[in-house]
Amino acid sequence: MADKVNPFQSFIGTMERAAKIMGLTEESYIRLKSCERELTVAIPVVMDDGSLKVFQGYRVQHCTERGPGKGGIRYHQDSDIDEVRALAAWMTFKCAVAGIPYGGAKGAVKVNPAELSKGELARLTRRYTAAIYPIIGPEKDIPAPDVNTNPEIMSWIMDTYSMLTGYVVNGVVTGKPIEIGGSLGRFEATGMGVMLITDEILKKKNRVLPGTRIAIQGFGNVGRNAALLLHGKGAKIVAVSDVTGGLYSEAGLDVPAIADYIAKNKGMMLKDYSADGVSHITNEELLTSDTDVLIPAAMENQITAENAGDVKASIIVEAANGPLTPDADSILDAKGVTIVPDILANSGGVIVSYFEWVQNIQNLMWDKEEIYKMLQKLIIRAFYDVLGEAEENHTSLRMGAYILALRKITSAERIRGVFP
Ligand code: NAD
Repeated sequence: MADKVNPFQSFIGTMERAAKIMGLTEESYIRLKSCERELTVAIPVVMDDGSLKVFQGYRVQHCTERGPGKGGIRYHQDSDIDEVRALAAWMTFKCAVAGIPYGGAKGAVKVNPAELSKGELARLTRRYTAAIYPIIGPEKDIPAPDVNTNPEIMSWIMDTYSMLTGYVVNGVVTGKPIEIGGSLGRFEATGMGVMLITDEILKKKNRVLPGTRIAIQGFGNVGRNAALLLHGKGAKIVAVSDVTGGLYSEAGLDVPAIADYIAKNKGMMLKDYSADGVSHITNEELLTSDTDVLIPAAMENQITAENAGDVKASIIVEAANGPLTPDADSILDAKGVTIVPDILANSGGVIVSYFEWVQNIQNLMWDKEEIYKMLQKLIIRAFYDVLGEAEENHTSLRMGAYILALRKITSAERIRGVFP
């Protein structure tokens, strides 16, 4: 259902709207309309049957004015350079909104990992890491998990990078298993940030999480953890979905039971789950279901001009990157829907990735309570900074977030000047 919107062009359009509100000259943000460095690599992999396949991979660094590049690696059959550029640019803006000292980067391999064996996936990951080795590193660009990548894949990246370097470099990647320098709290960090932000936006509307009806698209790292945490706080999760479709219950789903089913039955998806009072719905039905809060936590361009008019939620918390097309954003804004933008709503992941990197480069280990406390402090501060910009400029939260980010990034550019 995703329409043909070029996500990098969407990013530029949104940035230009914010720049206009701020009265910025084009010269002051023109560098952000291009990516600083783009690497396209061919990744040969010997498959289990002895045949040779070549996959396409990317690593893009959008802007490193505020610090080294930071951003996940995605494995998806539909990934292309424009998607990676947009994801990298959103990381530049997200790190600025969160106030952490990073620029933005992103990587992808055009592959459906479900079609590979574990051995093939490890060989693909190690060869991709070797191919992007010259431009990544703890001081240059630090990858992390994204769609269809996980702590195990991060461990292969860390090991490959360390073997090529000649010593252990655990700060090259975040989202690693705890045993090799991963941070406590990183796995659930993005979902926790989504929960904290949902709680905060409800409070602003004099509402509370207990009893609030929530529908969540995507049941991976972000969607599943957000669903579990929101359910734990008393919210009524009426719908969840994955790529195979969704589940709906008017009375509220038993999210821990669903998560447990998926965890214990390898290969099973939500379409295979059944329980009393639970009906099966499509992703399209989930997005337009009768709910108070809608949390898209899957892929970009899910809510478009075609279905935006049918969305019933009054609050949308963008846990995925770029889940609304610009047209959908305008339609929903005009309808009075409150939209918490991705570069704020899903920043919990990169905030705790930052904590992981700080622990790695200083050889420190922090406890979970400390990490949760600092995550809460940074994300709530970002929320009020964004809200402040939105209120001061009489604009949406998305524009507030872009204004805040543009202010920080353009002032870093100004202070550093243009080399040479
Ligand atoms: P994931 O691979 O763990 O999970 C993705 C989920 O979305 C799966 O349940 C999958 O079945 C579902 N899905 C995929 N395509 C779909 C479609 N077309 N329709 C409906 N469902 C679909 O990925 P993730 O890490 O949870 O990432 C989800 C989103 O959150 C992405 O936009 C990602 O960029 C963003 N994000 C992730 C993190 C992170 O820390 N992992 C941080 C910030 C933002």
